[in-house]
Amino acid sequence: MKPPMHVAKETDLAAIGFAVSPLQEQQQKTVGKLNELVNAMRSLSVIMETCTKCGICANQCHSYLGTDDFNNIPAARADLVRRIYKRYLTLRGKYLGSYVGAEEFDDQTLTKWLTYFYQCNECRRCARFCPFGIDTAEVTIAARHILSELGIMPKFMQGITANMIKSGNNMGIPKPAIIDCAEFMEEEIKEETGLDIKIPIDKPNSDVLYIPSSADFFTNIDTMIGAAKLFYKLGLNWTISSSILEAANFGLLFNLKVMSEHNDRMKEAALSLGAKLVIQGECGHGWRAAKMYSEGVNGPIPFEIIHILDFCALNLDNLQLRKLPLRVTLHDPCNYARAGEICEQPRQILRACVDEFVEMTPNRDENFCCGGGSGILMDEMMEIRMKLGKMKADQVKALGKIDYLAMPCSICKAQIPNVLSHYGIDIANMGGVMDLVGKAIVLNE
Ligand code: SF4
Ligand code: SF4
Repeated sequence: MKPPMHVAKETDLAAIGFAVSPLQEQQQKTVGKLNELVNAMRSLSVIMETCTKCGICANQCHSYLGTDDFNNIPAARADLVRRIYKRYLTLRGKYLGSYVGAEEFDDQTLTKWLTYFYQCNECRRCARFCPFGIDTAEVTIAARHILSELGIMPKFMQGITANMIKSGNNMGIPKPAIIDCAEFMEEEIKEETGLDIKIPIDKPNSDVLYIPSSADFFTNIDTMIGAAKLFYKLGLNWTISSSILEAANFGLLFNLKVMSEHNDRMKEAALSLGAKLVIQGECGHGWRAAKMYSEGVNGPIPFEIIHILDFCALNLDNLQLRKLPLRVTLHDPCNYARAGEICEQPRQILRACVDEFVEMTPNRDENFCCGGGSGILMDEMMEIRMKLGKMKADQVKALGKIDYLAMPCSICKAQIPNVLSHYGIDIANMGGVMDLVGKAIVLNE
């Protein structure tokens, strides 16, 4: 069995402070790390002990539905860890072995983990439907963390972490290029509106620190321009920090210490710039890490954190938005809808911005993942990613003609166009929610 992605080499790992554990130590280290996590995370210990194998989760998981691979059934996926837990961390498993579902750690154990925990998008849809609320995403987070502590991780995750250490953003872009890009966007806005709207970088004594995803700053620039216009309209004293130009936090997706380091970056940047409010840009898992883990893992923070869509929705009465003549739908990013309390805000914004807003079915916390969530955007996994995106493609196809598909998360923006093209679905335009705010907002009347 071979894992479906390129795995980081020992020399790559050294660059981010990780090392490969020798083969003879892997079993002991895996069991030790699992024991640590089960003791630290009550939810994980409950998951290890609870599953009736009722099978309800199978048909709720787009990964299983798209691949038809037994190990992608949420309960079967969790069992990959549960069996090891039972064998080494319970008395009944030690003495009764396979009779109680325990399994020996062998040379395939970690390869199976690498293969199947990187086909889980950590979307939490299984938890939404499981009668016990068993959240397989928690098992995925634990398994990926243990793998990384053993020095086993996708090259993709290692590369992003190296870029973060070097430049404070996933793309590894240095400060001079950040300033160039900000100036380019300022010129674009000036050409469109005639206004001098600034995108400040590292401006001291700013009330607000805005943290966009680097993809929205360098690639999906209409999302960034929409945010800049919103802040201008509201007269905010705001800035971007070149030391954390990244709402995404890939640490949540493979190593919890890396996640905590990113949370520290946010804290240091906000404190050094004097910000009392941090606004997070359009990134699903980044929002989950900032909202759910920054205080819990890193301790108290002396500023507020809000999501850009929440902030925009709260200020709708202060914006002059004209209705764009578009038929628009919304893809709910999993980490907003099932882990971040961002469901109604994008709907309120879109209804204020466009003539016709239509819902996908299902939607909100029952929405299907795009198939790219949890950072599995590796090119070498494209075939699997397309299978994981099948349910999303079906949802979009059922809507008929759509002028704009709003997908307010950088990973969804990278995944969904590939999925729709793969399944032959043609949508005129796709992008963030803030892109439409930028086009609908009236600035100079
Ligand atoms: S729905 Fe819950 S209890 Fe039933 S098989 Fe899935 S994880 Fe186990
Ligand atoms: S978190 Fe999502 S992808 Fe992972 S097992 Fe559950 S439903 Fe499937």
